[in-house]
Amino acid sequence: MFWNVHERLRMGPLEGLKVGRFNFGVNTSFVLYRAGSTLIEAGPANRWSQVRQFVRERQVQTVLLTHHHEDHSGNAAHLQELCQARVLAPALSLPLLSQGFPIQFYRRQVWGVPRPVVAQPLPERWEDPEGHRWQVVPAPGHADDMVCLYEASQGWLFSADLYVASRVRYGRLEDRLDLEMSSLRRVLQLPFEHLFCSHRGPVPRGRQAIQAKLDYLTALRQQACQLHQAGRTLSQITRQLLGHEDHVSFLSGFHFCKSHLIRACLVAGPGQA
Ligand SMILES: [Zn+2]
Repeated sequence: MFWNVHERLRMGPLEGLKVGRFNFGVNTSFVLYRAGSTLIEAGPANRWSQVRQFVRERQVQTVLLTHHHEDHSGNAAHLQELCQARVLAPALSLPLLSQGFPIQFYRRQVWGVPRPVVAQPLPERWEDPEGHRWQVVPAPGHADDMVCLYEASQGWLFSADLYVASRVRYGRLEDRLDLEMSSLRRVLQLPFEHLFCSHRGPVPRGRQAIQAKLDYLTALRQQACQLHQAGRTLSQITRQLLGHEDHVSFLSGFHFCKSHLIRACLVAGPGQA
């Protein structure tokens, strides 16, 4: 029961494939989406056999990547070879995809290691052969290069790793909370109806879910800064607001842990009241 997530999803004209080597919930599951001949994300490299089965069902012409991380980009080189698919990625992702980037041990275990891939820059707007009009929405914070993908006629928003959960409890050293909160506000300006997360899958009441995350982070940031001003240390604030570090922190070698989220709150400052 702790192994091998493999599930098919269908949401009207959109199909999904949920995969994962481990089955420990949203942090170890990944969802690829397919709209006609367009694949959104390439999925983790260690799930290539499931992804290959999925893409063999229907000709994939284009693969859209939202950022360079290995769970999103892992099979891009395979898809180029197998389907002769065009791989499009944000301009900032291109050197990381072609030259590689550091991947910690736990990430290698969970997702595998991508082969380098030469992708083409994702245009701000483009239309696919089925008539979907894709719009790129910058969404930095989780990663500098991250974007969301919006398709207005269907009301789809593919949020990459912007959402994942309303009440996040872990962070990474590179997280930029101020940017992430601006990105959450930016997508809330869009009249999207359906939210698709790369880890959670389709999110019911997506707009409320994004707003809930923004509200939660606003409150967490204010509380963390107040405690810091009152002289509490980082570890005291972390324990008080998020509890003790747990197995997720330990298994990730403290790359993905509670104190990094609080640190990101303190770096961002209290924000507006
Ligand atoms: Zn990511």
